[in-house]
Amino acid sequence: MVKQTIQIFARVKPTVRKQQQGIYSIDEDEKLTPSLEIILPRDLADGFVNNKRESYKFKFQRIFDQDAKQEAIFENIAKPVAESVLAGYNGTIFAYGQTSSGKTFTITGGAERYSDRGIIPRTLSYIFEQLQKDSSKIYTTHISYLEIYNECGYDLLDPRHEASTLEDLPKVTVLEDPDQNIHLKNLSLHQATTEEEALNLLFLGDTNRMIAETPMNQASTRSHCIFTIHLSSKEPGSATVRRAKLHLVDLAGSERVAKTGVGGQLLTEAKYINLSLHYLEQVIVALSEKHRSHIPYRNSMMTSVLRDSLGGNCMTTMIATLSLEKRNIDESISTCRFAQRVALIRNEAVLNEEIDPRLMILRLQKEIQELKDELALVTGEQRTEALTEAELLQLEKLITSFLEDQDPESKLEVGADMRKIHHCFHYLKKLLTDKKIHGPSRAPFSEVKDQVNQGPSTEEEYKKLREILQQRDNEINILVNMLKKEKKKAQDALHSSSMDRGEPRRSQSSPFPPGNPEGLRTLPLSAPTQAQDSSVIQYRSSLLHRKTGVREEMSLGRQEAFEIFKRDHADSVTIEDNKQILKQRFSEAKSLGESINEARRKIGRLKEEITQRHVQQVALGISENTTVPSAPDPMEEKLRSQLEEEKTRYKTMFMRLKALKVEIEHLQLLMDKAKVKLQKEFDAWWAEEATSLQVNSPPVNLFNHVKPFPQTPESQHKRSQLLSNQSDVYTRKILPSPGPLLHSQEQSSTGTRLEDRPSKGEFQPPSLHNPRQNVQLQPSSLAPLPHPCFGTSH
Ligand code: ADP
Ligand code: MG
Repeated sequence: MVKQTIQIFARVKPTVRKQQQGIYSIDEDEKLTPSLEIILPRDLADGFVNNKRESYKFKFQRIFDQDAKQEAIFENIAKPVAESVLAGYNGTIFAYGQTSSGKTFTITGGAERYSDRGIIPRTLSYIFEQLQKDSSKIYTTHISYLEIYNECGYDLLDPRHEASTLEDLPKVTVLEDPDQNIHLKNLSLHQATTEEEALNLLFLGDTNRMIAETPMNQASTRSHCIFTIHLSSKEPGSATVRRAKLHLVDLAGSERVAKTGVGGQLLTEAKYINLSLHYLEQVIVALSEKHRSHIPYRNSMMTSVLRDSLGGNCMTTMIATLSLEKRNIDESISTCRFAQRVALIRNEAVLNEEIDPRLMILRLQKEIQELKDELALVTGEQRTEALTEAELLQLEKLITSFLEDQDPESKLEVGADMRKIHHCFHYLKKLLTDKKIHGPSRAPFSEVKDQVNQGPSTEEEYKKLREILQQRDNEINILVNMLKKEKKKAQDALHSSSMDRGEPRRSQSSPFPPGNPEGLRTLPLSAPTQAQDSSVIQYRSSLLHRKTGVREEMSLGRQEAFEIFKRDHADSVTIEDNKQILKQRFSEAKSLGESINEARRKIGRLKEEITQRHVQQVALGISENTTVPSAPDPMEEKLRSQLEEEKTRYKTMFMRLKALKVEIEHLQLLMDKAKVKLQKEFDAWWAEEATSLQVNSPPVNLFNHVKPFPQTPESQHKRSQLLSNQSDVYTRKILPSPGPLLHSQEQSSTGTRLEDRPSKGEFQPPSLHNPRQNVQLQPSSLAPLPHPCFGTSH
């Protein structure tokens, strides 16, 4: 049993301007416990929190200043926890701090560079590396990813969910069994056998989180996210399983209501967050008081979930993230105060297989229950009351882990309770039939939907067609508008380049401000085509595909608009940079792969030569009728040392290739994430454009109301130029719209359009991830036209 207090660390986020110095200082001299002093500027000190103190001092295990690297954070904070998890203890790392202080950056990582990856990917990498090294045990790793928003839990890895908003997703609920163990209903556990698989799950969860977020629910700052790695190990043939969980928690912003409070929805949210952080604090205070018998875990979802990871059986670490700028001083002080309270909790981490009195009681209780069950079975006295929900859930968990257990001798131990046995059989049967029905031969959902929707009445058809016509008109108008801007930009660029030809070019990698003509830089769309680990790529691209609702029959207009949007987007620089890095890594990996093969061949040849040499020596010995010479053969020595050298080279290259593979995987995930973000922003922009067109229906006024392209705030004088081109637009508007015709062609020829699809790694055609929005492009399923922008409710 390990007794220790919760470890607290502080991390200061880099400030934008350097002159913020003087607000805080770090005292590393005091051996072992460094302290952070926050100094109140004179103008703030008066009247601040009712006292006249000028500075506040807080002690931390370690303080990471602005220049601390992600690598150092992992090594010092996360690695020790990961090590204890590998040894069988539970662990929790949580980041606490106000919004934008760097919690997500610390826990998950930045979206731009590979070196910015945070604690989760690094910990996964470390854990899988360690598991691979240890062949004495059978390890199983599962991942779950929970988001708690407004006191409701959502499974970020829910494989079923195609829903677009948080509210539509099934809620995760906390169940407690008679032994006070917590079970989470509706939270899926996913087995991950490799680091890549686990990374993919992280990506899937993050993408789901991003997609479910709307301007109305800024879930990313107001929700808590708990990424959990469940590790179990057992020696082959043994019955004792060692289980440990590692929770990596990205808490909601800790700012107080007064700061966020605007009213309505926001206030509800603020209340909840405060409540849930408040309950966390209550639990923490209760845990730190010596003789408290009751700990109020049940008050909130988060404390229930983290119950076995806050007090008691756990190694817990908190990272206080601080954005130490003048305006954030009060929030920073309250973050530090919270950390000081957390530091008072003493945890007793127990090895999860160890037998302590409490566990012994539990074990005996279980045994009594089993004996009772057995007795009931033998005497024929069957119990008839239904199994509780918690019991059912536990049974299903048992079945799942039984099915996933690699050990052929593993048993499904449900006890001698006929109700449970029956339930297991039913469940397995259901699984089997589901597999049969939904197996590979399952008809695509869209097909079924199309069949159902066949044959609408003619009037309805007309209505739909009219609506599509309207949509196409809108599309054309937006596009024409964009085209104009493009033309103008090109002219401007031409003009300015002829004006200042001598001016040095801006660095390619520097992010240009929105709307800067540098943004015109075209994106080469061809993706690196090198051979990749196809199964992983396919898995991810199918996730991306599903998440973004990408479909080939997307209207050409939108595709066109998206291409321009994408090109001018500020993120395109990052995407492009990452693409370049990826390309380099690919070619490095390719040449490394070749060198490795070469080394392998060489090793083979050397081995052959040594064997040959042996045979020759023996043959020589026989022919000369002497025994094999006792002196070492210099030729063979040479060959052996060559072999050793080659082996070392091979090993080094192999390790490098492995590291490269992980880096490539991570970069691809970052790019996929960026693409999803881009598409989300495009959709929002597109919808906004369309709405303004819809509202201002008289076509003559059209361009007075079209908003400028968001990434390129255009100068005002452009407007007049657009106005002068109105007639052009109007002509297009009254043209017999090619929309529906074109569309029906697209519809009927989806099967033959495969070759038009962008290759993997390229941007997909624009689309809406909101399935409801996608519907607008499908004549067969248009009624009652639920698209929020083109809806008839205006
Ligand atoms: P939070 O999750 O606390 O709201 P984020 O992690 O999203 O805050 O950080 C806000 C912004 O600051 C992000 O753009 C992030 O990349 C950046 N950031 C945070 N911490 C660091 C750091 N240590 N180094 C560089 N950038 C950082
Ligand atoms: Mg965040």
